[in-house]
Amino acid sequence: MITVPLEPDRAALDTLGQASLRFIADYLDRLPDEPVNNPADARAVVGELLAPPPEQPGDLDALLRRLDHAAAYGLNPASGGYLAYFPANGLPSSALAEAIAQILNRFTGFAALAPGLIAMEHSVIRWFADLFGLPAQAGGLVVSGGSLATLPAVVAARDAHDARDGVIYVGEYAHYCVAKSAHLAGFRAEQVRVVPSSPDQRMDAAEAARLIAADRAAGRRPFLLVATAGATSTGLVDPLGALAEVARREDLWFHVDGAYGAPFQLTSRGRSLLAGIEQADSIVLDPHKSLFLPYGTGIVLVRDESTLRAAHTAGGDYLQDIEDGLGLPDYANLGPELTREWRGLRLWLPLHLHGVAAFRDALDEKLDLARWTYEQLAAEPRLELPWRPDLTVLEFRLRGRDASANERLLQRINASQRVFVSSTRIGGQYTLRMCPQGLRTHAAHVRTAVELIRAAL
Ligand SMILES: *Cc1c(COP(=O)(O)O)cnc(C)c1O
Repeated sequence: MITVPLEPDRAALDTLGQASLRFIADYLDRLPDEPVNNPADARAVVGELLAPPPEQPGDLDALLRRLDHAAAYGLNPASGGYLAYFPANGLPSSALAEAIAQILNRFTGFAALAPGLIAMEHSVIRWFADLFGLPAQAGGLVVSGGSLATLPAVVAARDAHDARDGVIYVGEYAHYCVAKSAHLAGFRAEQVRVVPSSPDQRMDAAEAARLIAADRAAGRRPFLLVATAGATSTGLVDPLGALAEVARREDLWFHVDGAYGAPFQLTSRGRSLLAGIEQADSIVLDPHKSLFLPYGTGIVLVRDESTLRAAHTAGGDYLQDIEDGLGLPDYANLGPELTREWRGLRLWLPLHLHGVAAFRDALDEKLDLARWTYEQLAAEPRLELPWRPDLTVLEFRLRGRDASANERLLQRINASQRVFVSSTRIGGQYTLRMCPQGLRTHAAHVRTAVELIRAAL
């Protein structure tokens, strides 16, 4: 029986650490052979897992076994066979960095209280800002995900344009987090306009310009144009250069939702596809998607840090002792959180430990996997592929068959428990969707996927 006191001494900490690391290493060893999806009825274990904590200490090994058992149910986005939605990976170096950061547990709302740690976090923000070609006065914030990163951008845009009565333009395939953020920021549903797509399913820049002009003529106040760089459903990148041009001409804030797609800026193929992103007033990206990090990592970047600050600075007498922090950002003044998790290390350590090239190479590999899979499926006459993937999302459906035939195809593929794909609607039509993007997804997985798809036709 292993028990650990509330304040562990060195020996107890070693025991706790070794048992935890053993758990992690055993899990990662087994992962390639585990089913990507375990749809077994979890009712029996759920009852047991809902038990309240005991009064007396529990046995660490027994508790970790219970965790292992609990994790065996449901869908596993960290599996190499996970090709649905967006894979997510819990990169070990980042997860362990997080444990260290949480044990340091410094207060990082104000730079003066942890200047060294804030410098590390700021170095990551600066690096991302440079990657996207934003100017020296750019800034940003690490929050828990793309949805939460979008809110400060919408609020900064609203305040920079003094536009509570203004109109926001989004594409047909924009993520709903934009409308949700707009709602939270006080906008009514009718203040969010959906710009139709061009026939290639990207936001139509000419239509955007036309809607903006019509709204202006009707006395409304267009102020924010939201492009998507890698739409959730389609994976496609909106024409960022043309949309940036519309936004500039019409004096709108230009926001790029790159939650999924923006990290591909690291690759040369991604960089040419994302041309125009350097004109953004704000960019959102999710390192917990395309940089393989654990869930809980989203970033908002703004062209001018002062716009975030103007929208989020508040004060309280209880903060009067806090000094200025060496010109480093006070993150409490750039977003809605005061006390915040120090999310810097979960980014900083993997980038420094593995080097940027490791991430670039991994993303290049995923682009290759998507292209290879596209070629294979496109050669299958019973399938219809509406377009060649921009990045790593590819779409396919049975040619000339209805939604229920395609739904049954999806079920047959996923019944394998070796790969897992999802579906969406494109122009109202049921379409299967796969995204070979996971850290642990390699050529063998997409080969298996293609074999399973062929066998299921
Ligand atoms: C996933 C996604 C989001 C939302 O991000 P969360 O981290 O899930 O909150 C926003 N936009 C796009 C394009 C996405 O793919």
